[in-house]
Amino acid sequence: MTNNGEKIRCPKCEWEPDGKAYWQCHCGCRWNTFDTYGQCPSCRYVHIHTQCIECSEWSPHAAWYVDLPKLKITFVQTEKAEG
Ligand SMILES: [Zn+2]
Ligand SMILES: [Zn+2]
Repeated sequence: MTNNGEKIRCPKCEWEPDGKAYWQCHCGCRWNTFDTYGQCPSCRYVHIHTQCIECSEWSPHAAWYVDLPKLKITFVQTEKAEG
């Protein structure tokens, strides 16, 4: 599944997310993490690392995007300050 034409795939096994809500936040919310660049739509927590559904390996969320513009990575860094 892609957002705005971006290609998304697991950095470890090349699995491509199909847009379903596979990921669960510690708050209990289930959603497609690639719809929100890793941010939980319920509690707004940003998950910096994303687990692959296919190979179960964890990778930095930004690493899933094949052509990630540098400006999108900044949101991951600013998130840390909020705790
Ligand atoms: Zn994988
Ligand atoms: Zn949450």
